Amino acid sequence: MTGSLATHFWEGCAAGELRWRRCAACGTGQTFPRDFCPACGSTAVEWRRAAGTGTVHAVTTVVRAPSDAFRALAPYTIALVDLDEGIRMMAHGAADLAIGQRVAVTFFAHDGRHLPRFVPA
Ligand SMILES: [Zn+2]
Repeated sequence: MTGSLATHFWEGCAAGELRWRRCAACGTGQTFPRDFCPACGSTAVEWRRAAGTGTVHAVTTVVRAPSDAFRALAPYTIALVDLDEGIRMMAHGAADLAIGQRVAVTFFAHDGRHLPRFVPA
């Protein structure tokens, strides 16, 4: 993720918007923003705003945090969510999420950023 792309994503989170990128050539979506489309190589990739709703594909509990910044949160839930736009993203989730459950995105401030967190819809 290049600096400007990451900044645009995080600015969206701070504004309460979940932003993703869609390839104008083939329609492939990406939540990990890149300068090009990983499916067809096109650089015609544009920003979209997601509705913020989706379905839980997988869920896990992180007990050992990967960094000092996240240690204060542990244990916490990480979910793979299939957004209604047809793309899958990884994010924080409520502790009681279940596979197949409908969820909606919220944001919480942590370590200088606003992070996406999915809760029951
Ligand atoms: Zn493409």
